Order: sequence, then structure tokens, then C-alpha cells
Amino acid sequence: MSNSGSGPDGGPDGGVARRGLMLVLSSPSGAGKTTISRALLTGDDNLTLSISVTTRAPRPGEQDGVDYRFIDRGRFDAMAKAGDLLEHAEVFRNGYGTPRAEVEAALAAGRDVLFDIDWQGTQQLGEKMRDDLVSVFILPPSTAELERRLHERAQDSAETVRARMAEASEEMSHWPEYDYIIVNLDIGESVRQARSILEAERLKRDRQVGLRNFVERLRRPQ
Ligand code: 5GP
Repeated sequence: MSNSGSGPDGGPDGGVARRGLMLVLSSPSGAGKTTISRALLTGDDNLTLSISVTTRAPRPGEQDGVDYRFIDRGRFDAMAKAGDLLEHAEVFRNGYGTPRAEVEAALAAGRDVLFDIDWQGTQQLGEKMRDDLVSVFILPPSTAELERRLHERAQDSAETVRARMAEASEEMSHWPEYDYIIVNLDIGESVRQARSILEAERLKRDRQVGLRNFVERLRRPQ
């Protein structure tokens, strides 16, 4: 896909110019959200991942600037106070937040931004930028499967797994606040469903801000 704006009306993906959207994926830990996010980002040049800041320690294999920006509590509080975070929340006694500047720049350029954030962050984005927000909640197929996936991941201690199971119940109570719900029975199917949501939302009339000019030109007598 061309990024040159050479489409019918200078859109970033070669189509009609449109406003970028914010695609939020939320779920309890272990429901498959990270796998779905990675699959969506692969092969989609117009989708960028918002990299959150967090005060929690990196897990084995996690890279600073790739998975998160790992920062200390002092810096996190300073960013929140200065308004540098579009949303922020406390999850498992750690601070998590979305740096504002990158998101705003991407949206202005007509690019879409993917967020892996919790229900608290989703609510805050909804209050500030409802028109740009598309929210998807991913549910595990069963409690037993969720627990199995958390153990299998084995990056967290047994105590953390127990705490996360309790948190999962709380997180899942927020499903009615989301635009779309995916039950992750099969990861391939869930990825396909998430892609369909993104494709359809990109075609929403109000997001295609270049349509008026484009259709006017189409209707002009040759
Ligand atoms: P984890 O520590 O497992 O990476 O993430 C814990 C939870 O924090 C997940 O539900 C994740 O979606 C959420 N989270 C990650 N980044 C952010 C963020 O920037 N803002 C908010 N509100 N939640 C986040």
C-alpha cells in the first residue's frame, strides 16, 4: 500500500483521506490480547501500537521501548501531573499510562493507533475522544482456560497468578462498556474478527473526511 497520498483524495493508505481511529483492546491478562495485537500490527502499515509507560518491573524478555517504557514512580507522577498522559490508571498497584504526544501525531496524520489498556484507560479515552474510539473486549472461553493460560505463561509467580485471577473477574465485569466483544475460542478466528472490526470502522462515513471533495469530483460532468 502506498503512503504517498496518491489515492482519490490523498488518504494515508492511498484511499480517500480519513481521520485516524483509536482501536482499544482490553481483556483480563491471559485472554489472548497480546497475540491478537501482534497479529493485527503485522502487515498493516497504517496501524501503530501505542507504547505505554509503566512503573512495573520488566518481565523476562520484555524490552524497554518495545513492550513498555519502564519508568520510576517519580517520573510517572510527573508525567501525569504535566498532562503528558492521555489516560492513566493503577493496575496491580503499578502505574500505567498512555503518552499523549505520539498518539496525537499519529491521529493527525490519518494513522490508526492500537491500545492494549484496561477498562479504566478505555473509559478515560471515551470521555475525551469518543468519536475516535473503537473499543473491543476479549473474553476467555472459560475460567479454567484463563487459569491454564496464566500458569502456562509462567512469567508470574503463583501468588501473582492468583491475584490476576481475582482481578480478571473484576476486569470482565466491564464488558458492557465496550463496542465489540470477542470470545477467544480460537486465536486464528479471533484475529480474523478483530481485523474485520478494524476494516469496517475505517470505512465509517464520518471518518472518511475526504469523501465530500471526492464525490463532488466524481459527480462533475466530464
Ligand atoms: P501487564 O502488566 O500484564 O502488561 O498489564 C496489566 C494491565 O494493564 C493490562 O490489562 C493492560 O491492558 C493494562 N495496561 C497496559 N498499559 C496500560 C495503559 O497505558 N493504560 C491503562 N489504563 N492500562 C494499561
